Amino acid sequence: MPGSVIQVKRKENLGLLERLYLPMILKGLAVTTGHFFRNLRGFATGKRRDFVVQYPEERVDHADAFRGMPVLVALDDGEPRCVACGLCEYACPSRCIHIVPGELPDRGIERWPRVFDIDMSRCMFCGLCEEACPEEAIVMSREVEISTYTRKSLVWTKEDLLMAPDLLKRRLDFVRAEYDRTPDLPDGQD
Ligand code: SF4
Ligand code: SF4
Repeated sequence: MPGSVIQVKRKENLGLLERLYLPMILKGLAVTTGHFFRNLRGFATGKRRDFVVQYPEERVDHADAFRGMPVLVALDDGEPRCVACGLCEYACPSRCIHIVPGELPDRGIERWPRVFDIDMSRCMFCGLCEEACPEEAIVMSREVEISTYTRKSLVWTKEDLLMAPDLLKRRLDFVRAEYDRTPDLPDGQD
């Protein structure tokens, strides 16, 4: 479901105090101080203990809408669901997807990604590739732990990106509801 655009009107004529930004600074400080004392009271009375997550032993269970790195959905035979149409590559604002289409004549497949790379050093996890894909073949996973020591190793190949649909169920369900999609999937895939 596309979001609506809200136009925020900028105030043209600012008074002297507003031009000094002092009232806004004091207002911001009041908000921050209010939060500080509210949290402090919650901590002192035992009502709040959720300030710190002991990562990596503890993990935050992100909302269903959470977008981690994009991955390719695998079919039962381990091949990507992708048909190499190139829509995600076109939609990607940071141009980090690289696809080389191929053909698998022995399996009757006319288009298939011979190469499908994503340069994670440029990806900004925006999810536009997921939105553009007509095959539900690229989705945003919950994976964010992808740090490495070299830029080269941040280029994820097709084999690195493949993920079983079971591991992506939460996101797939969310995306279907969000975009009002009914997937046309091969038998046994959901
Ligand atoms: S999440 Fe955004 S930046 Fe990353 S590959 Fe997809 S479209 Fe490109
Ligand atoms: S939009 Fe989907 S089907 Fe098309 S190339 Fe990208 S991942 Fe593959």
